Amino acid sequence: MAGILFIISAPSGSGKSTLVNQLRSLVTGLEFSVSWTTRGPRGSEQDSREYHFTTREHFEQMIRNGEFLEYADVFGNYYGTARCTLQEAFSRGRDLLLDIDVQGASQVRARMPDSVSIFLMPPSPEVLATRLRNRSRAEGSVQEQIIERRLAKARQEIENYREYGYILVNDILDRAVEEMTAIVSAERIRRNGDAGIAADNPADRERVLRIADSCRQANSEGRVRPVLEAFGVPELSPTVE
Ligand code: ADP
Ligand code: 5GP
Repeated sequence: MAGILFIISAPSGSGKSTLVNQLRSLVTGLEFSVSWTTRGPRGSEQDSREYHFTTREHFEQMIRNGEFLEYADVFGNYYGTARCTLQEAFSRGRDLLLDIDVQGASQVRARMPDSVSIFLMPPSPEVLATRLRNRSRAEGSVQEQIIERRLAKARQEIENYREYGYILVNDILDRAVEEMTAIVSAERIRRNGDAGIAADNPADRERVLRIADSCRQANSEGRVRPVLEAFGVPELSPTVE
């Protein structure tokens, strides 16, 4: 049976890495794609753990060889998902999670319509700015110019939320983790009849399905509206069921 491809996108600083790291310890049978990038390692990042770090020349050779399922230019650097990452995870009978930007997510959705896409939003620009500053401070230095650039990009990215099947707002981390875990379980139940994690009794299954359902884009209006207002993004009717 083919594995499930999960995609998560979020504006930089929303807490996506934090959420994904927590998910690692909670969900079995889910592999985390290691992307290729031409940006340099940050903080304690290690080659082939957070990313496969490489040169532009090598990345462009990989593009010419057709090695990428998707790739994009993000903040002036290339980022891409190698096709072999997907093939290897699925051949091991695992599901795969891609942490990729909105351009990459759109390419994957077009190529793999069965994929499950999740958009994580910060609660407001003020909270996002604080998180970006805190992270930069922890990594050495705060450059206000970079923070401003990322805030402007966040607004553009949030405009794409309608392309995603599920929407999470990362206000309280534990809740976002619970919702993300529920989405993985619910999709497994829906496709395989089996959650693969602690949702084996009927009450747990019911709960997981209810939580995941509340995160579907079509059901997220109430939570999403204040975020859109805070970022100044116009609200339209949902497009994805
Ligand atoms: P991303 O991967 O989306 O760029 P990070 O996971 O690096 O973002 O998170 C950015 C900063 O925000 C980090 O300092 C992280 O500890 C913090 N953070 C993440 N989620 C929350 C949350 N729910 N509440 C408060 N701080 C958070
Ligand atoms: P960062 O440099 O902060 O790790 O990541 C910057 C952005 O690049 C994030 O939005 C992240 O999701 C995105 N990204 C990471 N890997 C990939 C990838 O393989 N493809 C695409 N399209 N985006 C990626």
